Amino acid sequence: MSNDVVRKPLMSGNWKMHHNHFESIQYLQKLAYLLTKEDFAACDVSVHPPFTDIRSVQTLIDADELKVSLGAQHCHWDDKGAFTGEVSPAFLSKLNVQYVICGHSERRELFGETDADVAKKISAIQKYKMTPIVCVGETLAEREAGLTTQKVMGQVRSALDGRSSEQIESMVIAYEPIWAIGTGRTATSSDAQAVIGAIRAQVLEMSGVKAAQSVRLQYGGSVKAANIAELMAQPDIDGALVGGASLDSAEFARIVQFRLHRTP
Ligand code: PEP
Repeated sequence: MSNDVVRKPLMSGNWKMHHNHFESIQYLQKLAYLLTKEDFAACDVSVHPPFTDIRSVQTLIDADELKVSLGAQHCHWDDKGAFTGEVSPAFLSKLNVQYVICGHSERRELFGETDADVAKKISAIQKYKMTPIVCVGETLAEREAGLTTQKVMGQVRSALDGRSSEQIESMVIAYEPIWAIGTGRTATSSDAQAVIGAIRAQVLEMSGVKAAQSVRLQYGGSVKAANIAELMAQPDIDGALVGGASLDSAEFARIVQFRLHRTP
């Protein structure tokens, strides 16, 4: 497929249940100090703190006019209601949240989130003009049974089904092989490219060229400064969803600056 659209890389730090709001503020001040305007021109950056930190982080981003985008790790699909403990996408958008992770494997595995739930969340996130980062990926058992394509493409089809090309163009899909999350094991860059390339082909088939050329596809799974450049050299990988390595602002800054430490 010829590629007329330049996709700006997106590096997203998923802090999971780490960093209280004081720690988040310190982290962000350090990250902002380490990143230059050239870095932000070359790469979009989002941070996804715990819900309790979001207001503090938003205030800092606004006050210091930081170029970092605010993200959330999860949300409910309804605007409001009797959903104890859940967080409304409407409330997130009021806090200038721009990206919301949905369908992370930890939410799917530990909290029973289904493909149908993920599809409803995508609609809710887009209704409030935020960008969903939709996570897909296979377990080790599925991989070893040769079921990677079947599992991942099933999740992708469910996420995209019934959406317009415009809606898909603005989405982010993160391929996160579950066996690589937090384990120190990374998919080889060519394995990651093979699955991510297949996701783009699936988008092409379902929604056409514009959606396939525009949708940003991230890789996630033990990404660090030492392996990001090789992953980013692959034609269909447009960024990374980073867990553990994003908890350290200096390491995350080096990931954002992958273009400066490309191996020859
Ligand atoms: C994640 O949390 O989405 C993730 C990919 O974690 P890690 O980078 O630690 O593997």
